[in-house]
Amino acid sequence: MSLKGSVMPKRRWNIAVYTLSSALAFSFAASFALYAQAPHVLTPADQQKVESILKRMTPEQKLDYIGGTGFAVRAIPELKLPALEMSDGPFGTRSNAGFPSTTYTAGIGLAASWDRDLAARVGGGIGRDARARGVDFMLGPGVNIYRDPRNSRNFEYFGEDPFLAGQIATGYIVGMQKEGVSATVKHFIGNNSEYLRHDSDSIIDERALREIYLPAFEAAVKVAHVGAVMDSYNLINGQHATQSGIYNIDLLRKEWGFPGVLMSDWDATYDGLAAATGGLDLEMPTGKFMNRTTLAPALASGALAQSVIDEKVRHILSTAQSFGWLDREQSDPSISYVDARNKAAALDSARESAVLLKNTGALLPLKRAQIKTILVVGPDAYPGLPVGGGSAAVVPFRAVSPLEGLSEALGSSANVLYDPGIPSMRELATRTQFMTAAQGGKPGLTLETFRTEELSGAPATTSVVAHIATEGFGRQSLEDNPEVTAAIDVATLHSFRRFTAYFNAPTAARYILALQGAGERSRNRAYVDGKLIFDNWEIVRAYEPQTTLQLPAGPHKIVVEDGQVRRSGGRLYFGIVAEDQVVNARARQLASKADVVLVAAGYQHASESEGGDRTFALPFGQDALITTMAAANPKTIVTVTSGGNVDSTAWIDRVPALLETWYAGQEGGKALAEILLGDVNPSGHLPISMERKSEDNPSSKFYYPEAKSNRVLYKDGIFVGYRGYEHNGVKPLFPFGFGLSYTTFQFSNLTLAPAAAGAPFGLNASFDVTNTGPVKGAEVAQLYVTNPDTKVPHPAHELKGFERVELAPGETKHVTLPLDARAFAYYDVTGKHWTVTPGSFGISVGDSLESLPLHTQVAIPNVPVD
Ligand code: BGC
Repeated sequence: MSLKGSVMPKRRWNIAVYTLSSALAFSFAASFALYAQAPHVLTPADQQKVESILKRMTPEQKLDYIGGTGFAVRAIPELKLPALEMSDGPFGTRSNAGFPSTTYTAGIGLAASWDRDLAARVGGGIGRDARARGVDFMLGPGVNIYRDPRNSRNFEYFGEDPFLAGQIATGYIVGMQKEGVSATVKHFIGNNSEYLRHDSDSIIDERALREIYLPAFEAAVKVAHVGAVMDSYNLINGQHATQSGIYNIDLLRKEWGFPGVLMSDWDATYDGLAAATGGLDLEMPTGKFMNRTTLAPALASGALAQSVIDEKVRHILSTAQSFGWLDREQSDPSISYVDARNKAAALDSARESAVLLKNTGALLPLKRAQIKTILVVGPDAYPGLPVGGGSAAVVPFRAVSPLEGLSEALGSSANVLYDPGIPSMRELATRTQFMTAAQGGKPGLTLETFRTEELSGAPATTSVVAHIATEGFGRQSLEDNPEVTAAIDVATLHSFRRFTAYFNAPTAARYILALQGAGERSRNRAYVDGKLIFDNWEIVRAYEPQTTLQLPAGPHKIVVEDGQVRRSGGRLYFGIVAEDQVVNARARQLASKADVVLVAAGYQHASESEGGDRTFALPFGQDALITTMAAANPKTIVTVTSGGNVDSTAWIDRVPALLETWYAGQEGGKALAEILLGDVNPSGHLPISMERKSEDNPSSKFYYPEAKSNRVLYKDGIFVGYRGYEHNGVKPLFPFGFGLSYTTFQFSNLTLAPAAAGAPFGLNASFDVTNTGPVKGAEVAQLYVTNPDTKVPHPAHELKGFERVELAPGETKHVTLPLDARAFAYYDVTGKHWTVTPGSFGISVGDSLESLPLHTQVAIPNVPVD
């Protein structure tokens, strides 16, 4: 029966047949039905085995067991318990100290594919790689919500929408766990930035938690039955995540029924007893706090019950038993270390993730016959950047760069020229000339080192150095920089440095000033003529801050200060260049002669990585590179390698084509060439909204802590991403869900029908998608619900269904998307439950938030959600 535009017939919902929690579980699972998977259930025999091991463990063994050993749960040979190995991912296996593995498109790219099957193939591929390497727990996926492009770990996550993130996570986890490897969903919870990551306190109201920040975790637990959850570094509503009984026990265990292992992030445990009573099972990487010394006295005094410790051990043992780790070798020699199927999945992940954002005059796809010379230019052109930095920096056996991908695809039919376009940070720093005094000084900078952060009193050492270009306090640099070594405080291992010098501007002009620091455990700031230009002293706002200043000709006083602990690596670069000199002259010349220019812009490990954030602006010199290339050649295509949006103000109107490739994994350059040349039709759609200006982002004002505090007030509430843009009446540059194709699509015939009789409440939304253009392609059909309720504010649209549809030219496919009660519900914080307010809900279908050609209304009665 069609319900198009009509009122749904009243059905009697027999609430009595559901218990509160089973109705919620069913209803929620229904939205994720495609990937719902049976939990790893312990048979009575399994349970007996776990209990018998537990009985044989001594109290000391139990306390030792809940502290890791680096990247493993410890082995207990006398009980025949193997070590349970862990490896970072999330988009490849990083075990064995970075031994290579297949590297897939990073999380945000996977979300941009909107392809659950691809997520399952990627998860499965990583699962097989993990089995080949004997890994039990993969440390991923990360499902923290994208709030602001400055979070340097956005590339690991699945974008700004909880439904999309939950679906992709579910596919990934189910695919992985089928291989006998546990996924570890992280970072639970409120870890949406990297500055001050150990100390910031995410203050998030309950509705925003329930509707925005929790659903992807909830799906991982209730639908995909993930084996492990990782608590985050930060505090959440006043308590460290690792000691928050509210989230770890009441929510995760009691409400969601999580039976698996709750581990800490690495060094995210701060108090042994509080973590033990706050629900943490396993402290990683070692039992620095949850150990015999801290917990045995608490057990003796009764402050901690033995049953609490037993329960933690039980969670670990029963997870191990349910995955079969206690009965078989985890390392599977029937799987190749370099698995051919995985390479194919990695290539598909790169192909499907790229989002074509602009294609004026149908410049793309390039016509092979018309290209004799193409210039590939930019810092991300070579080598390939398969993934961002930090613990997610999987090492591929080989990564295809844009330069190699295009060269291989074009063969001898065209000349592929290359120039990096702009200097690297190291080149910039070592090319910058300083003088020790405004007049009559000598070349170089005065370097003073201090043992205290005030950088006051007599310096420990004073010397003259040629540049601000240091790379570490490692053995090499200890020899290179005896003055730095001398200044390291042996107790704290801190070193503070001040570089003072004069930069002689040859002419009055705009100058780019750029700095690269070491992220967390380091701090830095810089002054020009007494004015603070970079402030990473209390909060490391960006690894690589940069600015452009108009400087009069003549000497300018430069002061750069930094403080680092020895472990932070000692990296510090600072340099200055005239804006009109930053682009290599050779690149300019080649650009004007080439038929086409490809600028591969974006970030690197040193500029987008965990432990610090990044700038919204592209790293230094790249705006100038793009505008210079565009001025020299009207056929300039820009690709951006990033974990999210970048400031494109300087060039977006000057370039005809723009492709967001995210971090596309080891096959990125190959997939890029296929897309540019039309062998593959781009099909990625944005899993985020892309702002014009940083301040347009609804969360940007609430990104940093309130003044003089560690409290980050999530005042944007539920209005994150597109929910916030629509609420605030601000139009983004590119809307959520947007992505161009080389073909065209049409949507038609939207109908709604009730789910099968006797089933819990549900609707099926059906419609047709037709490829009306000349080439095959994939469309991402998206369904948004509009809630008419006026009791509390609601977003104008919320994504509640989607499907990626592959279509030959002229082909039509009928798509059906299931909608359960949760699709129409909001979280009622007073009643503390999900609820549907009866009314006439809007259903809109299309291929981006701003292109929703199909619309209907449907009356939803008072259906049970819980
Ligand atoms: C990261 C985690 C990672 C862990 C182990 C931490 O710094 O936050 O995501 O799994 O390190 O490398």
